[in-house]
Amino acid sequence: MAIRNIYKIGDETLRSVSRPVTEFDESLSVLIDDMIDTLIRADGAGLAAPQIGVLKRVFVATFDGGKTFVEAVNPVIVKAKGKRVAAEGCLSIPRVWEKVERPRHVVVEAFDRHGEPIVLKADGFEASCFCHEIDHLDGILFTDKSIKPERK
Ligand code: ZN
Repeated sequence: MAIRNIYKIGDETLRSVSRPVTEFDESLSVLIDDMIDTLIRADGAGLAAPQIGVLKRVFVATFDGGKTFVEAVNPVIVKAKGKRVAAEGCLSIPRVWEKVERPRHVVVEAFDRHGEPIVLKADGFEASCFCHEIDHLDGILFTDKSIKPERK
């Protein structure tokens, strides 16, 4: 377990498309544990592998202040419903908070670190978080989608 460096906006890695995980091996477990450690240290809600420089389709998230963690490998949004606009931030874009429209409910299919299929159902903040993290896997940052304040 180790804390990894979080890549910041401007780094090419954050704009790259991540590859699907094909080997559910020890190195994947180490990656996920390191992502969880890094997320705890950064006091964030979610972290995607490209944010620590690893172009693999993996994200972790926590919604109870770091007591329990969601880990998702090769996540795919299979259902999205409704709309919700809320401010988002990102560990790779410090001190920026902007409003983004996301689905209100999502269903995500993924795998755990052992290669077992999992289904994640999320509403509201959690749904936004899953969408935000999955966007990272395609090189998309929330500021690409944010509703910019009108300039006077
Ligand atoms: Zn982010």
